[in-house]
Parts: sequence; structure tokens; C-alpha cells
Amino acid sequence: MFDKILIANRGEIAMRVLRACKELGIPTVAVHSTADADAMHVRFADESVCIGPPAAKDSYLNIPSVLAACEITGADAVHPGYGFLSENARFAEILGEHNVHFIGPKPEHIRLMGDKIEAKRTAVRLGIPVVPGSEGGISSDEEAAKIAREIGFPVLVKAAAGGGGRGMKVVQTPEELSNALSTARAEAKAAFGDDAVYLEKYLQRPRHIEIQLLGDGKGNAIHLGERDCSLQRRHQKVWEESPSPALNTAARDAIGETVAKAMRELEYLGVGTVEFLYEDGKFFFIEMNTRIQVEHPVTEMVTDIDLIFEQIRVAAGAPLSLKQSDVKFHGHAIECRINAENPVSFRPSPGRIQHYHAPGGLGVRMDSAIYQGYSIPPYYDSLAAKLIVHGKTRTECLMRLKRALDEMVMDGIETTLPLHRALVREADIIDGNYHIHWLEQFLARGGMES
Ligand code: ADP
Repeated sequence: MFDKILIANRGEIAMRVLRACKELGIPTVAVHSTADADAMHVRFADESVCIGPPAAKDSYLNIPSVLAACEITGADAVHPGYGFLSENARFAEILGEHNVHFIGPKPEHIRLMGDKIEAKRTAVRLGIPVVPGSEGGISSDEEAAKIAREIGFPVLVKAAAGGGGRGMKVVQTPEELSNALSTARAEAKAAFGDDAVYLEKYLQRPRHIEIQLLGDGKGNAIHLGERDCSLQRRHQKVWEESPSPALNTAARDAIGETVAKAMRELEYLGVGTVEFLYEDGKFFFIEMNTRIQVEHPVTEMVTDIDLIFEQIRVAAGAPLSLKQSDVKFHGHAIECRINAENPVSFRPSPGRIQHYHAPGGLGVRMDSAIYQGYSIPPYYDSLAAKLIVHGKTRTECLMRLKRALDEMVMDGIETTLPLHRALVREADIIDGNYHIHWLEQFLARGGMES
């Protein structure tokens, strides 16, 4: 096992990893920017190192600074959380070159899945169904027009290096295609330094269903069921649940086994998520994330498996502690992302939390790094807290979620709590009857203003 783990992240995920390390008895190091000197993760860690000024590129993304923090403190492993350096293959390699373990997949798998075109090719090779579209990158407008005609409009232009819902353009008609390609290329170049784009059929009413995976890097891999993350705004997840209201046990087992088999073939190491769109009973691969995800707690709640423990164990070279038959699903879990944003305009609302009361009681979990009097800095993402609720059934889970949302107080800043309070009362949500465009349609018809 590791002697000391450095957590190269901040906010709720740094707290989540810190808690796991404390339970495992592993000493911890926090790193922080000057803007985060008072942050909760800094207070909770055994040691802390300031790694730079507020801008993430100068601190949390600054590889030499993170490496220096490892050397100063003698940390022999780094947990990258999500975002920041978590999907940077070069970072994982550099750590390796300095005899520091990266708690994550092998660099070649990070690289492979980081290029969405290569990821899709790999999925096809491994027998995973993909969204119809171009086989590789698009090199000319003519080629794009030909493929778009074949798959049928509307189509989606996507960036090979895309992430966080950026670099995507929906194209409704052939006339719009050429413009969309050049805008998408320019945006992708600016955001990711890579202008490669590809085409996909734009699905009209799919659900976003993703499978959680765990591998030991030696050819053993299992799946931990699915999460339904169809409630999204601007391709960003807002609410996630497990199990999906749209799947039955047979469908879950089938898709889960398909991806677990693919991970065994790859000899995948660590946690990972294969994301699909699901329409008319069929799955279509969109991408794989080679890290822990924001919404991992819903899986933990229905399986009783601590994903961070497992991630640390396999990174230290241990074999999987579980067989597929050991994974038992029970009850239902829902996560609400409470963002520091205006609930109608979604404008970020950083600032001081004047009053804070976290909900409690049976089946209620809060993952956050906030406290009363804490000031949410303007430099990072706006996720303030994740409320995760578990119940024996989906109905019980919704009853409990409604109560927990009503109990929660986060004053002084604007938050998306009112959005979640409205969602939990909507008939379609209560019925589990929603798809990836549902939330945008609800907002467009003034669902939050009434
Ligand atoms: P990112 O890496 O930027 O998150 P993804 O490929 O994971 O991009 O897609 C994010 C979201 O965008 C999906 O959950 C879905 O809502 C939407 N999306 C992606 N591909 C398609 C598609 N082919 N048709 C319709 N919506 C899509």
C-alpha cells in the first residue's frame, strides 16, 4: 500500500479522497492555490503545500509544482480526482518517471480514450455499439456532406479532444454544415489545441446511460451497473440516478458484461466509465472517461462499494477484491448537483455562504467542501455540493430527496437548489419519463419561472 497520498485537486472531490485515505490509514497531502488557503481540503489533510496563484493553469494544472509538492512531502502516490490533471497521460508518465504512482489508468489507455475518434474505433473493435457517424476525423466539407447525407440530418459535429460538453455543434440542414464545421474546428482549436472533428447522428430522444467499471490492469474487470444522467443542461449533468428508470435487469447485465469484457481485453486498470446514449432499446457508445466521475456516489449507494478504496487498492497493485457475482444492487439512489449559479440564468454566483444547513437523516449523504462563512472563489467550477439520497425503492428515494432538499439551507449566494426542488415535483421526473433534451425543454417553456 502507499505510504502517503497527495491529492492533486480541490473542492468536494479532494474531500472525498481525503476521507477514503483517512479510513485506510494513509497519510495525506493537500495542494492548493493561494485562493484556496482556507479551503476545507487544506484543513483536513495531514500536510498541505501551496502550489501557485489562483488561475488553475498556474496551480492545479501546473505539473512541475505538483511534482515538487510530491518531492517535498515524500508522497509516493497522487490521486488526481476528476478534471484538472486526471486525464493527462503525460502527467501520469512524468509521475512514473519520478517513481510516484498515479492513481488512475495506464497512460496508454488515458491517451486512447482522450481522443474520441480513437476511442470510438476501439469501441467498434471491442464489439461495443457506437453512434452512427464518420469512421474517423472529417478532412473536407465534401466528405462531411456525403456522410451527413448517409446518416441523415440532424447531425452533430464533435471535437476529437472534446470534453465538458464543449466543442459540439448540432446541424439541422445541409446548408448549415460547412459553417458548423469551421466554427467547431476553431472552437476546438482554441479550447483543446486540436482542431480534429468528427460527425455523429444527432439522436432526438435518447437517455444518457453510463456503465461504471473497475479493472485491476491484469485482465480482471467487472461492472457496477449503470447511472442515468439524462437530466442535462448544455450537455452538463444536473441530476444522476441509479438504477436507470429505463433499464431492466437483463438489459443492465447484457450491456454491463459487454463493456466489462472489453475492459478485460484491454487489461484496463482502475475505475472508468463507458458512456452511452440509449434509444429504442439500443445502446450507442459516445465516450469513455478514464477517471472517477462526479456522479460516482450513486453507484456507491446502490452497491455499498467504496470506489475510491478500490481505485487506491488496484493502483497499488492489488487484484480485484470483488467478483462480478459479489456485486449486488439494492435500492435506488439520486444525486443532485447543487451549483453556485442562478437557477434560471445559470450565471455563476461565487461569494460568501452566510447560512448553511446540510440535510441529514436516514439515507442522506452530502459530498461537499463548503461550510458556513466559506467564500466560493470565482476561479473554478461552480459545483458547491452534491446531495445524494438513497431509498429502498425509487418512490422512497424521491420522497426522501424532496424532504432533504427542503431541509437544506445555503444562503448568501444563488444556487440551483430551487431547480432541484422544482424537478423533484415534476410529473415526468416522478415517472422517470425523461431524455437528454427534457431539461432544456422544461427551461425553455419557463418551467422555472412559473
Ligand atoms: P463531453 O465529453 O463533452 O461530455 P459527450 O460525448 O460525453 O461529450 O457528450 C455529452 C452529452 O452531449 C451527452 O450526454 C448527450 O447529452 C449529448 N450528445 C453527445 N452525442 C450526442 C448525439 N450523437 N446525439 C445527441 N446528443 C448527443
